[in-house]
Amino acid sequence: MKRLNKKEALTLLKSADLLGLGQMADNIRKRLHPKGIVSFIIDRNINYTNVCINKCRFCAFYRDKNDPEAYVLSKKKLFNKIKETIALGGTQILIQGGLHPELDIDYYVDLLKTIKERFNVHVHGFSPPEVCYMADKAGLPVRKTLKILNKAGLDSIPGGGAEILSDRIREMISPKKIGKDRWLKVMEEAHLIGMKTTATMMFGSVEEPEDIIEHLDAVRRLQEKTGGFTAFIPWSFQPGNTELGAKARKRGSAKVGANGRSPLQTATAVDYLRVLALSRVYLDNVPNIQASWVTQGLKMAQVALRFGANDFGSTMIEENVVAAAGVKYSVSVTDIINSIKKAGFHPAQRDMYYNIIKKNM
Ligand code: SF4
Repeated sequence: MKRLNKKEALTLLKSADLLGLGQMADNIRKRLHPKGIVSFIIDRNINYTNVCINKCRFCAFYRDKNDPEAYVLSKKKLFNKIKETIALGGTQILIQGGLHPELDIDYYVDLLKTIKERFNVHVHGFSPPEVCYMADKAGLPVRKTLKILNKAGLDSIPGGGAEILSDRIREMISPKKIGKDRWLKVMEEAHLIGMKTTATMMFGSVEEPEDIIEHLDAVRRLQEKTGGFTAFIPWSFQPGNTELGAKARKRGSAKVGANGRSPLQTATAVDYLRVLALSRVYLDNVPNIQASWVTQGLKMAQVALRFGANDFGSTMIEENVVAAAGVKYSVSVTDIINSIKKAGFHPAQRDMYYNIIKKNM
């Protein structure tokens, strides 16, 4: 199939027949993953702190330093979480947090070293805004910072903090966060020193279809250069307990309008499937597309497997960020395996590099 250009992608996103677009994505999924395997990873999100100076308007997770709910996890608690994860068959931890004004690079280096001394676990952690914050505070270039973290035990980097890679949109939803170019720069530098990363996209807030295409195009172009993205994960904005959601409600604009969408443009199930399918078609150089059961629930994640997704992401033994927005699906590894089987696929446990470590489940 000929590679889509931006104009064609925009037309598909705006007006393609949903099932036709889904079929295109499903055909690509079948070509890339012909054995019908749907993979997942057993891991846990560990949020070492919820203190964050960025105060993004779409985020329900952050707290001020002096808030009674503010925390920094002690090493003891963090190690216990890793122990529990390994006991449950986990192979990875996803460690992320807010931008805490009192933590510096020495804290992160020490944390990584002590984790690696005690546990045989893959550390996927610190999204580009955290990496930039550490680098800026230490007065170091991004590449040097990544090398220091990598040497201390950081194995790979999650694609968080991308939201929509358009500075116009970032100015509206997360004005203090790093811009598009810096997000891409961190990923490029990580790929150049041999670290793999994922890429995410949070849509369904204030963006237009054109912004989604810009985002997909930025990811595709960087992947063309480095090949370092293992997967793409589109997920939809959850407005509960967020400044963006509260403002829309106050204006009465969170109500669904005649076009079936609110002015905040919170994504419907159809929007989700449309964006997911287009991501599979447009990102022809990214091998894996994840379904987001954390925001869509298991039922929609099953449907997503026919709209381009070939992976269920993490089992999320623990998840706090989406849960802070009031969205929490309680899901066990057995639920995930059964959902994949009932959708007509073969479940398999994988690692961060998409090597299969267990199948025939
Ligand atoms: S999304 Fe991340 S950077 Fe933004 S406020 Fe929340 S924790 Fe901070």
